[in-house]
Amino acid sequence: MAVIQFFTLLVQSILWNALQELEQSGFAWGALLFAALRQWQFWAVAGVLLLLFALCCRLRKRSQEVDSSSDEESSSSDREQVEEEAEEEDNSDSEDDLGRFFQEHIRWPVQNLARDCQVVKDLIDSYILVFRQLLSNSFSPVLEPAIKVGSAFEGWSPREEDIIYRLLVPLKPPHGHAFHLELGNRGETPARNFRVRVELVCTCRTEQLAGEMPCFLHHPEEELRRDQGPSLLRTLCTGSYLDVQKTARWFYQLVQAAWVVLPQSSTWRLTTLPSRRSCKFRVTEGNNKTHVIEMMFGVQQGNSDIFVSSQNTEALFTPSTTWPESYAVAEAKFFRHMAGQVPHDSFHLRCLQAYARILVGIGFSTYTLKTVVMHLLNTIPLSGWRRRHFVLRMDDIMRYLRRCLEEKRLDHFFLGNERVPEEIILPPDFQTAEPLNLFQHLVQDPDAHAEAMREYRDLQERLMRLLISGR
Ligand SMILES: [Zn+2]
Repeated sequence: MAVIQFFTLLVQSILWNALQELEQSGFAWGALLFAALRQWQFWAVAGVLLLLFALCCRLRKRSQEVDSSSDEESSSSDREQVEEEAEEEDNSDSEDDLGRFFQEHIRWPVQNLARDCQVVKDLIDSYILVFRQLLSNSFSPVLEPAIKVGSAFEGWSPREEDIIYRLLVPLKPPHGHAFHLELGNRGETPARNFRVRVELVCTCRTEQLAGEMPCFLHHPEEELRRDQGPSLLRTLCTGSYLDVQKTARWFYQLVQAAWVVLPQSSTWRLTTLPSRRSCKFRVTEGNNKTHVIEMMFGVQQGNSDIFVSSQNTEALFTPSTTWPESYAVAEAKFFRHMAGQVPHDSFHLRCLQAYARILVGIGFSTYTLKTVVMHLLNTIPLSGWRRRHFVLRMDDIMRYLRRCLEEKRLDHFFLGNERVPEEIILPPDFQTAEPLNLFQHLVQDPDAHAEAMREYRDLQERLMRLLISGR
């Protein structure tokens, strides 16, 4: 039964914490007393919770007894059958009680994500349409419809005040240009870094047919200067490579210039926010509701769900011509795919949301926990993610993380993973690629590993606190 499993987990965690403290302090009697006293507080809370549960279960059973005994007209054989069924249901009901308890007990952020996501998406769609109008006669990158990515659109944003709506705007080469992705050396981070080389291509043949703009390669420069705008190489590139920061600045100009044309601008306010590698801004609706939006830009790898993008890397310094590989589109697609497969009361997003919240201030990135959850979603039967399994899955996530820390190995979800659902389109080299270890830094740095283990214990305590106190 889930109630018992929950308390087993609680007790396990408390004993484990006490043992850890004893190990660290060299098993002195003073430390034993201290550890016991500290854990005693947990026990007290756990005891109270246990009593509450027992009371709830008993009350529930009594109310069922009253219901059935008041029904004098039902025959005895009918009643026997009903009682048997009730007993069967009782087990799953009490499990569901536990799920419902946590749904109500934990202070989940108050969000109206579905509505707000739609508002943001509509705004960005109108923006892209206006951008296209503004850019129709230039050699700027061609903007494709924005793709919703990140925690807000995936549905697990941890706190109302932190929500950032992220969208990736795919860039296509303008007329007379081609993009070539060049894989660079591994930098400080495990992610693969690319550069986007911009090449001018001959358009003489198509020009003759269309009778339009002259070819960048084969027309005299003077004529080009007179008849058309500069090539992309002269505007948003450094050398032959597309420059992330120049592109970001260009985007900021577009966002401001196009704002006045948007219908929303009559009652809403636009405030740009600083960012070197993306375009970040806040819009305030007429009713003072605000949305922080970040537009990133990317170039698609073939026809796959993998992009190279302008998103920030964890490295201290990222050259402006570096475009790290981004899995954000594939991840969003994975969560959408899962949403269509899981039971209606699935709590997989709640699990991720709970972890994202207790992670604040701890060294583990939400990306680490997201990767763990994606691996588990892909392996645990989907019927096991219902509300009633909440505590079990939270515990699975912890155990998985602990095993990864002990082995100093957490595989990237997409690179080298043969079990990625086939709905997600990966570049051909992905399945044959070496799995990418997101914990590689722990292999090389024993201090970082010790620190990560400490943080793990911290996280475990926070999880207990969340389950007990609900916040
Ligand atoms: Zn030509």
